[in-house]
Amino acid sequence: MSENIEERHCLVCGETQAQVHLERCLVCGKYFCPDHAFKRTGRRFCSAGCARDFFWGVGDEEDEDPTEERHEPEY
Ligand SMILES: [Zn+2]
Ligand SMILES: [Zn+2]
Repeated sequence: MSENIEERHCLVCGETQAQVHLERCLVCGKYFCPDHAFKRTGRRFCSAGCARDFFWGVGDEEDEDPTEERHEPEY
C-alpha cells in the first residue's frame, strides 16, 4: 500500500493539496477542489454523476430499472 506517498490532486484541474483544500468524493473517493465541487443539498461531490449515484443509492439493485428500454414496433 503506497497511498500515502501518492500525491492528492483535484481530478479536474490537478491542483494539489498544498495549493487548495481538497475534499473527497463520498461516492468514488476521488479528490476535488472547491472550484470543481458539485454541490447538491449541502453535500459536495466530484461530479453530477456521483451526486446522482449517492442519492439514488449505489449497490441497491433490487428495484427494477424504471428506464428499462422498450421498443414498440412502429407501423
Ligand atoms: Zn479543481
Ligand atoms: Zn465522485
